[in-house]
Amino acid sequence: MIKIVGDDMKVENRECLPTLLDRWFKDGRHLGVSANLEGTKHDFKGRRITFGCRAGPNYDVTNLLHEMAHFIEIDERRVVKENWGFRIGRPFLTNFGVDSIPVNTKGTEREARVWAIQHLLTVHLGIEETVMDKAKIAQFMPDFWRIPGETYDEKIAFVVKLIEDGLQTFTLESIEGIWNERVAKLGALFDAEIARRKRADRLLAGEVRNKRKVTFADDEVGSSHVLITEDGIGDETIHEVAVIVQGDLVGDGYALYETEEAAEKYARSMFDGEPVKVTTIEPEPGLTVACP
Ligand SMILES: [Zn+2]
Repeated sequence: MIKIVGDDMKVENRECLPTLLDRWFKDGRHLGVSANLEGTKHDFKGRRITFGCRAGPNYDVTNLLHEMAHFIEIDERRVVKENWGFRIGRPFLTNFGVDSIPVNTKGTEREARVWAIQHLLTVHLGIEETVMDKAKIAQFMPDFWRIPGETYDEKIAFVVKLIEDGLQTFTLESIEGIWNERVAKLGALFDAEIARRKRADRLLAGEVRNKRKVTFADDEVGSSHVLITEDGIGDETIHEVAVIVQGDLVGDGYALYETEEAAEKYARSMFDGEPVKVTTIEPEPGLTVACP
């Protein structure tokens, strides 16, 4: 059994740790658990993911379960991306500090699936929790105001339904199957991600872009230049230029423009007039650590 690092005596619900580690963390080579870590840490050299028990001042096994649930829910190739490949929406300065502007409710929909998986793990470990306990966390999601419902209660009821839908989809056996399959592939997934990043680095360093023969929109290179557009508040729209290689965001926040034309011009100029593909996508807000 692996040993948890850090102040494990601080961790609430720690009595279930032996059962948890014994059944889910058998692969000590690729998996670790830390009491003090918030979220997860991806060690590319060691091909290892460490899962944390902390969320702000709160040390609890349930925070670890939340990250485990993300590992199970997310697309397979994103398990080897820091922060599960989430971008937390566009940072936006408001009177209340930095905030983000959600353009849809995908963040909460995903989180509800994660809460369903987390709930299965929680119950399995004998920790008391209701679906409502999880659903109430949705009020802290940046897209909560977009959730259908006139009142707080109606919105929470909608989230309860989303979690219940998730509980129809998953069982403890099915999530354990996904977990084990992914853990077995972790070394290979890390290798693929490292190779992809090297390719992207070369691309961004200009090694590839100066070869006139390369067509950036073709399958061989598999890259496309992507224009990320996000609706702002009122009439304001922000355009961000980023680079996507083989479906993954490799470069982010190169430049922000007020008009789509200016952003597209910049996107094309980055590759010296190569036939890049400019696409508009919506960012995906995510919440990766459990809220109070
Ligand atoms: Zn989360």
